[in-house]
Amino acid sequence: MSKANLSAGSLFMVVAPSGAGKSTLVNALLAQDPAIKLSISYTTRPPRPGEHNGREYNFVSAPDFLARREANEFLESAEVHGNYYGTSRVRITEQMKAGTDVLLEIDWQGAQQVKKQFPDAVGIFILPPSIAALEERLKKRGQDDPMVITRRILAAGGEIAHAPEFEYAIINHEFATALSELTSIVKATRCRFAQQAARNTSLFAQLGIHAEFS
Ligand code: 5GP
Repeated sequence: MSKANLSAGSLFMVVAPSGAGKSTLVNALLAQDPAIKLSISYTTRPPRPGEHNGREYNFVSAPDFLARREANEFLESAEVHGNYYGTSRVRITEQMKAGTDVLLEIDWQGAQQVKKQFPDAVGIFILPPSIAALEERLKKRGQDDPMVITRRILAAGGEIAHAPEFEYAIINHEFATALSELTSIVKATRCRFAQQAARNTSLFAQLGIHAEFS
């Protein structure tokens, strides 16, 4: 990273197969740490009961999504479980420039695309404690129809195969432990030298630290 590229904000990517408890963990993190902003993705998936346009997702039609993708509006996009999902490029770039920590809840395909553009992005993979636990969570959630649940269970193995591409792995066996591990990763990332230097420029100058980053 060159000095000119120093950004005070960090980019987190949280990835997991459906049913690993990712959203619950992420929502708990966001509730206790308002400094992190969740990126609201675009999707062609229909809203689940209780989901609101602009809150969980920007729900759009397939033609609308494809037009946005054609116009290069997405930092990354992917087809997941038969629907399109994408992250707005403008929002993320603005937030990163402003020094805001941003969290992306995306799939492994999107994470690969983001990593190419932001090599410092922190990849966190949430693993279920067992396949049985994953199936049970998906069925209990009861928000998807049985066909959708079966499709997601079948896809889980393929998604988990990408876990080694991530810097961090959290096993969501016990919620409190998993949340504390996620919080620790966020805290450690904020202490990266480059992040500290970008956030505390005058202190670092006063201390005579003129670090070059390779
Ligand atoms: P769900 O339909 O359960 O909300 O999400 C299905 C999958 O799509 C999850 O793995 C979720 O992380 C992923 N996803 C959600 N938003 C995005 C996005 O903007 N980009 C990509 N690549 N995946 C996403």
